[in-house]
Amino acid sequence: MSKIKKIYAYEIIDSRGYPTIEGKLILDNGVEVTTSIPSGTSIGKSEAIELRDKDETRFNGMGVTKAVSYINDLLGPKLVGVSPLKQKDIDLWLIKADGTKNKSKLGGNTTLTISQLLVKAAATDLKVPLFRYINSLYQSLFDSPIPIERLPDPIFNIINGGKHANNNIEFQEFQIIPSSSYSFTDAYKIGVEIYHELQKVLAYRNSNISVGEEGGFAPDFPTNLDAIEILNETIAQKNLKIGLDVFLGLDIAASHFYKDGKYKIKDKPHLLKVDEYLDYIYKLATTYSILVLEDPINEDDWPKWSEFNQKIPKNIYLVGDDLLTTNKERLERAIREKTCTTILIKPNQIGTITETLEVINLARKNNFNYIVSHRSGETNDSFIADFAVAVQSDFVKFGASARGERLAKYNRLWQIEREELKK
Ligand code: PEP
Ligand code: MG
Repeated sequence: MSKIKKIYAYEIIDSRGYPTIEGKLILDNGVEVTTSIPSGTSIGKSEAIELRDKDETRFNGMGVTKAVSYINDLLGPKLVGVSPLKQKDIDLWLIKADGTKNKSKLGGNTTLTISQLLVKAAATDLKVPLFRYINSLYQSLFDSPIPIERLPDPIFNIINGGKHANNNIEFQEFQIIPSSSYSFTDAYKIGVEIYHELQKVLAYRNSNISVGEEGGFAPDFPTNLDAIEILNETIAQKNLKIGLDVFLGLDIAASHFYKDGKYKIKDKPHLLKVDEYLDYIYKLATTYSILVLEDPINEDDWPKWSEFNQKIPKNIYLVGDDLLTTNKERLERAIREKTCTTILIKPNQIGTITETLEVINLARKNNFNYIVSHRSGETNDSFIADFAVAVQSDFVKFGASARGERLAKYNRLWQIEREELKK
């Protein structure tokens, strides 16, 4: 097996116009791979720390030269001569080199660059598709196979709000989810066509059709409910049945509009106490064919999550993102306290591929659902698409069916269906 000849990194600019890390790994047989790292805007408090320069004279402090130099001068040289197949050993070494609980010394962006490079280098060297290699890596780590049988169902985020847009609605993502009975090809087509229909519906109402960070439209609405209603109207215009052909999803990202025991949303004229707010969310979720409901509650309020999870119908995927941050200890607590049913998986929330796979293994062992997700700040790397197929994620969340950095992932899924996994 080939050995690592060189690992190095540099800055590139992500979809939001901020620097991020791109890394390269060269093997001694000439194989060369590249990967780049995404970045969140609405960040959970327990996520791995993303190392930024905080040098206000460059890129408003968002530079990543420190992280790049850790790869080029500190970590990369020590990996020369090592096999890229040693994923677990190298990831454990990275975790130890960092030595903190949240990667605050080296940065989760630094460690994930190296971790992802190893995966890509090993797959390329073995001449297997990336998703098949990741699938075999999972099996070898946990002695438990995941049969690859299907593509994950796509969740398209077609209206952006909250921290992802400068419009006036508090909920962060309004999503459409074609029924799982469709092939990926058909689900993608439905997603793309509804996106264009929504553009027409908004234009007809003289609404703004500019887009937010994830490519969804970002007009102002009188209330969050109006954004949901407009999705219903758009789906009906396409002669599709809501709750049968297409479902809705919401990433409420509630931590970002919660303050001092109260929730503030445009739908009500006054500040809402927790129970009053949750009654409203419950009503929305059960009235509007919501299939996936992410972060409806502030990330620190574990008891309310458990209470809400007891109450909400079991066919609704109650998802912890800011709550669980792809973190094993937090998932263990969620399993113990029955806080939700589904975890969002974002490798950069934890900082290595081995730890991300460990979280997925824990979820699988406990019949917890999982959804592999991009970040709002993205690059054209499609790694996450292969990753989602490899672990047979229930859904994938890659944003709207627009903007190159989102389409890189959806198009890669389409390619996998076409070339590898025809239904
Ligand atoms: C999310 O909150 O699910 C998301 C993808 O956004 P961000 O990357 O900003 O956390
Ligand atoms: Mg989220």
